[in-house]
Amino acid sequence: MDTLLRTHSRIELLHRGYGVAERHSLSSTPKLQNSENKLSCRRDYKRRPKRGFVRASSCQLLELVPEIKKENLEFDLPLYDPSKGLTLDLAVVGGGPAGLAIAQQVSEAGLSVCSIDPSPKLIWPNNYGVWVDEFEAMDLLDCLDATWPGAVVYVDDQKKKLLGRPYGRVNRKQLKSKMMQRCILNGVQFHQAKVVKVIHEETKSFLICSDGVTIQAAVVLDATGFSRCLVQYDKPYNPGYQVAYGILAEVEEHPFDLDKMVFMDWRDSHLKDGTELKERNSRIPTFLYAMPFSSTRIFLEETSLVARPGLQMEDIQERMVARLRHLGIKVKSIEEDERCVIPMGGPLPVLPQRVVGIGGTAGMVHPSTGYMVARTLAAAPIIANSIVQFLGPNHGLLGSELSSQVWKDLWPIERRRQREFFCFGMDILLKLDLQATRRFFDTFFNLEPHYWHGFLSSRLFLPELVTFGLSLFSHASNTSRLEIMSKGTLPLVNMINNLLREKN
Ligand SMILES: Cc1cc2nc3c(=O)[nH]c(=O)nc-3n(C[C@H](O)[C@H](O)[C@H](O)COP(=O)(O)OP(=O)(O)OC[C@H]3O[C@@H](n4cnc5c(N)ncnc54)[C@H](O)[C@@H]3O)c2cc1C
Repeated sequence: MDTLLRTHSRIELLHRGYGVAERHSLSSTPKLQNSENKLSCRRDYKRRPKRGFVRASSCQLLELVPEIKKENLEFDLPLYDPSKGLTLDLAVVGGGPAGLAIAQQVSEAGLSVCSIDPSPKLIWPNNYGVWVDEFEAMDLLDCLDATWPGAVVYVDDQKKKLLGRPYGRVNRKQLKSKMMQRCILNGVQFHQAKVVKVIHEETKSFLICSDGVTIQAAVVLDATGFSRCLVQYDKPYNPGYQVAYGILAEVEEHPFDLDKMVFMDWRDSHLKDGTELKERNSRIPTFLYAMPFSSTRIFLEETSLVARPGLQMEDIQERMVARLRHLGIKVKSIEEDERCVIPMGGPLPVLPQRVVGIGGTAGMVHPSTGYMVARTLAAAPIIANSIVQFLGPNHGLLGSELSSQVWKDLWPIERRRQREFFCFGMDILLKLDLQATRRFFDTFFNLEPHYWHGFLSSRLFLPELVTFGLSLFSHASNTSRLEIMSKGTLPLVNMINNLLREKN
């Protein structure tokens, strides 16, 4: 069994017996990462010869990781002045997409806001993909740097499904610049540090930063992603984990159409019959996610959709190397790489609590898919309005009363029920091997677009989700139905229990 250690600022998965620690979102400096990878290859070789992992090939790929710089935005940031000792309306801890969206929108209403992050100008490291309609609905089409009119799902070597739903890659530089510009125009102050502690009084809170500065604010918002810096949880943390290794690469050629992104490629013909790797993949499958930008430039990500415990990064890399070789993809150079560990599902934070939250820290990742950016950006105006309204003269709420209202707006009963259903979906996915996973997605993408779009984009609510579930069941093959009934009964009972426990 894996042990989860919650440290102050990071989550670590410790695989007992191996002692391999993975940090989430490890887009680390390439030099360091390269040497870490080499080290981990050597270490694994020594410690796990019996499992027969062949490390040399993945190391060869990883040795291509180039020296890429961490890029900063060129802004002169208005800095928070601690000497003034003012109490701000809102302090936002964390300058990821979630935190900046709230800082921007609350400051737009004229409230005083401070955004605190250890690297406020750094361009976000993650490669975000979204469905184009999600960004269109928020008037953010200018923040996509590539779009594909459709997507493809390879169910197996015989069957592929074409999805007529445009997909896009987020231009994270453009999105962050846009939000920062608006924040600066609205008078947001920035402070470059980590928050290490919060102390609450009845009507305001004090944030203690790593540089010794204390920031006072009426409302504190934790937007520190999966670090979950301030938001409290009172239940055992037992998420599933999406683990992925991705590269943005220059290749000699690749076999994919340029007008379709590869949403999921579940083919396993790259794995030789009878090998341990094939057997591992049959039990806990991984798929390829790919965004072809040109005939020689492509983002490739080998992904474990969800597993508990999460797969090891080295395992994923080994599968990826075998796949690329089989597809005839020769990597000439790597522009960027990302190591992705996303906790999915698990309990919600204590509701309500004094610190408010949004994004990864507040349980907003889709428990069945790992997606979150579009959902968080769409929720930001609701949370920003809530803060502005309840802090404003009409309500004049402060302290715990105010946070309680904001949490209600973030997690109303219908959203909590929806999340329970998505967690049920995750619990089923956790139990499916490769064959069953293929049957599941074969059925899933045969549903009416309204259902699969709505499920993936968190737009379906109960009772429509029940119709979705029944529809999935009725479209399924007899084998799939048996699988869903045998593997889904316990998760279903858990979901019903949790739904019954939910109160308004
Ligand atoms: C590699 C990767 C790829 C992903 N790809 C997608 C995708 O394609 N589509 C999608 O929808 N979702 C994706 N996700 C999931 C999710 O959307 C992202 O994790 C997203 O970045 C979460 O946004 P956030 O603002 O909540 O947190 P983050 O983006 O993690 O931002 C948190 C910020 O808080 C700061 N911080 C942390 N601790 C402190 C502290 N103590 N004090 C001050 N600041 C602090 C951090 O420095 C960081 O800037 C991905 C996740 C990962 C890890």
